[in-house]
Amino acid sequence: MARHKFNGGIFIKNPYPIDKIKIVPAPLPSKVVLPLQQRIGEEAKPCVRVGERVFTGQIIAKTEDDFCVPIHASISGTVVAIDKQLTPHHSGLKSGCITIESDGKDEWIDTNFGINFLRSSKKTLIEHIQKSGIVGLGGAGFPTHTKLNNLKNCHTLIINGTECEPGISCDDALMQNYPQEVMRGIEILLHICGAKHVIIAIEDDKQVAFEALLKYLHNDKIKLQKIPTKYTSGAEKLLIKALLNIEIPSNSFAVEQGVLCQNVATTKAIFDAVELGRPLVSRIVTVTGSAVETVDNYTVRLGASFAHIVNLSKPNTNLHSVRMGGMMMGVDVDNLETMICKITNCIFVNNRQKPIKTQGCIRCGQCNLVCPVNLLPQQLYWYAKNENIDKSLDYNLLDCIECRCCDYVCPSHISLAAYFVFTKALHANKVKEQNKVNIARERFEYRKYRLARNKKEHAEMMAAKKAQLKQKMADDKTQKDKIAAAIERVKKNTKNNDDTSI
Ligand code: SF4
Ligand code: SF4
Repeated sequence: MARHKFNGGIFIKNPYPIDKIKIVPAPLPSKVVLPLQQRIGEEAKPCVRVGERVFTGQIIAKTEDDFCVPIHASISGTVVAIDKQLTPHHSGLKSGCITIESDGKDEWIDTNFGINFLRSSKKTLIEHIQKSGIVGLGGAGFPTHTKLNNLKNCHTLIINGTECEPGISCDDALMQNYPQEVMRGIEILLHICGAKHVIIAIEDDKQVAFEALLKYLHNDKIKLQKIPTKYTSGAEKLLIKALLNIEIPSNSFAVEQGVLCQNVATTKAIFDAVELGRPLVSRIVTVTGSAVETVDNYTVRLGASFAHIVNLSKPNTNLHSVRMGGMMMGVDVDNLETMICKITNCIFVNNRQKPIKTQGCIRCGQCNLVCPVNLLPQQLYWYAKNENIDKSLDYNLLDCIECRCCDYVCPSHISLAAYFVFTKALHANKVKEQNKVNIARERFEYRKYRLARNKKEHAEMMAAKKAQLKQKMADDKTQKDKIAAAIERVKKNTKNNDDTSI
């Protein structure tokens, strides 16, 4: 088995390294804004009103949608607004949010102080994880209970201890500071999924975290595995391919192949929920970039503004560009008032740079060498540029993980991934339009069928009525004949009687 081999990808040195990784608890924010829309599923519905007092950990919005988790208040205080606001998302669309103003007390709602996982059923634990608002904290935000519910014949549990991108150190900080909690979280997951093996995948430059976890490694099923510190090695499907040599097709999920992959921060959140009875109300966020004096990791309440922790890192007074997530796959945000949500693993604050001029493709082939999913970005680019969706699909456009490795190495500074994202959107739109046409065609066909059926039924009904009428008329004639005969008989009898009496 070709283990620990990652195709393509790039080695990128952390541009803003930290000497000693620590976690700084951020002060309580004076206000939090909590979005109601989650990664998938419908928007949660508020179950509090403006003016209502809420406690930390209290459920303030929920939905019946199985894919969603409830939203919890991350501070105690008063609900001051329920309205639409901009959230950090590629779409740039507004979504419903609940704003809470802090009372400075951080009073928690009564928690049940956790449950004994060894005595709890799989179903109870998954429900508890859902109620505690846990989603993937690695950056994807996929609901954890959905993964667990869809798990089929789990043979391997992979704990992903890799950072998504260079420059992010929140998971490293978490493993160094909470190794025991991570290990306990793994035991809970193991109890739920029943896997035979557990692999904790950790990059080879994270020696301190590796040793911290090693101290609490007391289960023979669990193995710590170092992998190369190479960008995109942490992507779930690539990690599974490298560790287990299992290929997960683009339209399929790892859980369908018996592999459960969980991020280390999610694993710690599961520990907090199950053993301590604490819902997910905070997370660790890295603040880094060329515009801040100190690069650090902060534990911060969800819904606090980016500014709340960026200011702790002392940004300079230049014009900044702000990005949520990594330098490669992150999302640009307009300002520091954006709220921290469950998928905010990093905030990059950089000094604004002059845009780099793009040049024509020189066919150097560099992009083809680094693609971690073995695509041919150079070829794909020509088709994507010409909006040739069919040809782009022939070149496996849908397998592109939008990692931007190809952009990074392109000497002509072409934003190849942006073309691929755009072409994917065109394709999605075409599919949507095609579905609409198909639905319209189906409706038309059904109408035609319905009209023909109605006509046939009407004709059959009329024929039946006609036959009925004919029968009735025939019956009537018989009846009339009978009556006429009876009258005749009566007349005859009367005449006979009259004759006799004379
Ligand atoms: S790296 Fe850039 S210039 Fe080179 S082949 Fe790819 S797109 Fe063309
Ligand atoms: S963005 Fe897509 S095409 Fe470019 S390297 Fe990544 S996966 Fe390959």
